[in-house]
Parts: sequence; structure tokens; C-alpha cells
Amino acid sequence: MKNLALVSFALAAPGAALSAADVHIDHALEFARCVPAGATVTKLAGDLGFVEGPVWLKADGVLVFSDIPNNELKQWSAAGGLTTYRKPSHNANGNIVDQAGRLLTCEHSGRRVAIQEKGGAVKTLVDSFEGKKLNSPNDVVVHSDGTVWFTDPEYGLKTNPATKQKEGKEQAGNFVYRHDPKTGKTTAVVRDFVQPNGLAFSPDGKKLYIADSGAPKHIRVFAVAADGTLDQGRVFCTIDKGGPDGIRVDTAGRVWSSAGDGVQIFAPDGKRIGKILVAESPANLCFGGADGKTLFITARKSLYSVKVAVTGAGR
Ligand code: MG
Repeated sequence: MKNLALVSFALAAPGAALSAADVHIDHALEFARCVPAGATVTKLAGDLGFVEGPVWLKADGVLVFSDIPNNELKQWSAAGGLTTYRKPSHNANGNIVDQAGRLLTCEHSGRRVAIQEKGGAVKTLVDSFEGKKLNSPNDVVVHSDGTVWFTDPEYGLKTNPATKQKEGKEQAGNFVYRHDPKTGKTTAVVRDFVQPNGLAFSPDGKKLYIADSGAPKHIRVFAVAADGTLDQGRVFCTIDKGGPDGIRVDTAGRVWSSAGDGVQIFAPDGKRIGKILVAESPANLCFGGADGKTLFITARKSLYSVKVAVTGAGR
């Protein structure tokens, strides 16, 4: 460990070239592998409502993301700027693209995971579990086997001011689900989260990371069995500022999490490598751009980007 500390110290000098305002480095050697020296956080768009769910559409070379309160999916590209992708979006939140390039979208007011077929038709993929409506799907990922995994916290349901209860809630809890499009079957795979939120698979698909943005403010990791079941999981890391919302995994298996102070990067063993500090609190992020090495960050009312040295695993 002593030698490692010396190496880290030796490499701290080039690290100083980074804009001190934009980063916090815990492990200089590892951080340099993630974020190039001199990288700065750029604001691409502002004056939005509350932005979430960024996804890079490779085929179109554009970023799509959600403006939840404005009931709109936005589109951004360097050439085309900011435009409307879909409105109304049914207060869309998390987005992902499946193997066929179809856009999957979590809808708060739609209370469903929707899928947009190529050509434009938007259909319901999942809107119930055991005959009861979902709460308000928040974020979604697709496993390499084609199954769709999503979280269903209660953030999108209205709170009754008198009872403080969520109105119209039909599920017994805030679960994480696995949906198999081949069979149409939906299974609750995790039931003990307070508010399950962002989720992402390891590059080999054998681990699933899930953020709890409720009181725990941590990310848990689960082993994924071949039959799609999970083990009991364990705490992978805890977020020290704010809580985790959207998360992504890079090709080396590092976990990139939104947090109150920016994007926090964790090694596969759960140790924090450092932070990319952002002026507004990020809710979600994704890798994209022509080379896959732009990190797009949705943060409150604005969209930001930063050039990084790695790209994302999966879609
Ligand atoms: Mg979220």
C-alpha cells in the first residue's frame, strides 16, 4: 500500500493540470485512466425543467433525454442543437436503447415502460405486475440476453397532503423488475429497496448494480444467475453528498454514479476513484458521442458534457 501511495503521489503532479474546480481526485493513477488531464465540464443547454434519462442514439448520432415536468423528450446534437424528440412524453424519466435500437422509456404519469418501434409507434412494454399498476417506473436497462430490468419507486405518484400517502399506489412496495419480452412475464427480483433508482449491469452481465436514492443513499450489487434470479446482494458503495440516482458502468467495470456534488467514479471493488464536480446536482448520465467517450450529464435544469478517457459497457 505504501508503494501505491507513492505512485499516486508521483502522478498527482500531472493531475494538477486538471481544472481544480471541476474534479476531486481520490486516486490519481486510476482517475487519470478515467478522465484526461485538462477535461472541463461544459454546459450544453439550460433553462429546462428537471432533466433525467440521457441515452445516446448511435444510429442517429444524437442524445435523447427527458425533461420530466415539461412532459417532453428532448434531443441534442452538436450540429442540431436542442430540439424536441417527443411530446407529450407522459413525464418520461429513464431511457435506454435495446439491441434492435428501439428506445425504451420509463414514464411517470404513463406508469409504464414504453417502447418505440423503429418508424415511430410508441407502445406499452410493461404497465402492471400481478394485475396491479406499476408505481412510476424510473430507470431501465437491457441485459445482453434481451431481458428488460427496471426500477419502480414511488416518486412519480402524487402525495396526498392530508394522509401523506401516495395516491393511486397499487403495488405493496417499490420493487425492481425483470421483464422477458419473449414470454411477456414480469418478475419482481428485488423487494427490499426504499427507492430503487438507477441500475446498470457489469460488462459481462453477471452483476447488477442498483442505486437506492431513499434513505440508504447507497448502491448495492447483486450476482445475476443464468436463470435471471439475483442473490441477496451487498452494499457496493455509499454516496457521501446527496444520493445516487442514475448510474452507468464503463467497459472496465467501474461504476459512475450521479451524486449531489457531481459524478462519482468507483472502482470495481467499490473504492472511490474521484469525482467530476458539476455546478448543478446531476440526476443521471450516459456515455456517448461519436467515439463513445463523451459523458453526458443531466443535472436539474441543464445538460452538461465532459470528455472522458473511457466508454460505457452495454447500451
Ligand atoms: Mg432516476
